Amino acid sequence: MNEYESRDQIIRSMGFPTYRDYLQSKLWRGIRQRALLRTQFKCVKCHGRAWEVHHTEYSRLVLEGKMIRTLMPVCRICHQLLEEDKKQRLEVEIEDWKPVPRPKRARAITMKSRRRAS
Ligand SMILES: [Zn+2]
Repeated sequence: MNEYESRDQIIRSMGFPTYRDYLQSKLWRGIRQRALLRTQFKCVKCHGRAWEVHHTEYSRLVLEGKMIRTLMPVCRICHQLLEEDKKQRLEVEIEDWKPVPRPKRARAITMKSRRRAS
C-alpha cells in the first residue's frame, strides 16, 4: 500500500468518500488556517505569500488536525516543486531495484591497465 492509498483509507474511516471531499471540508479549512498562521502566511521555502499547505506525511494525527507541525505553508510554485521532488525521490527508490550498469569509466581504466601490463 502506497502513502496515497493509506491516506485515502484514513480519509474514508473519517467519513469522507474521497480526499477531495476532505479538502473541501470545514475540518481541513480549519487545519489549513492554523498551519498558515504558524508562519504568518509565509512560504517556508521562499518566504513569499503562502496560499497552500504541503503535507510532508499523511498520518491520522495530521489528517484529524491533532498535529500540524508537519504541515508546511507554501506558495503555489514551491508546492509544485516539492511535489515533483517527492515523485523524483520515488523514482530513485524504484531505480534502486534495478541492477546497476557497469560504469564506462571503470572499463576504460581496465583497458588502460591491460595495455600497460603488456
Ligand atoms: Zn514559495
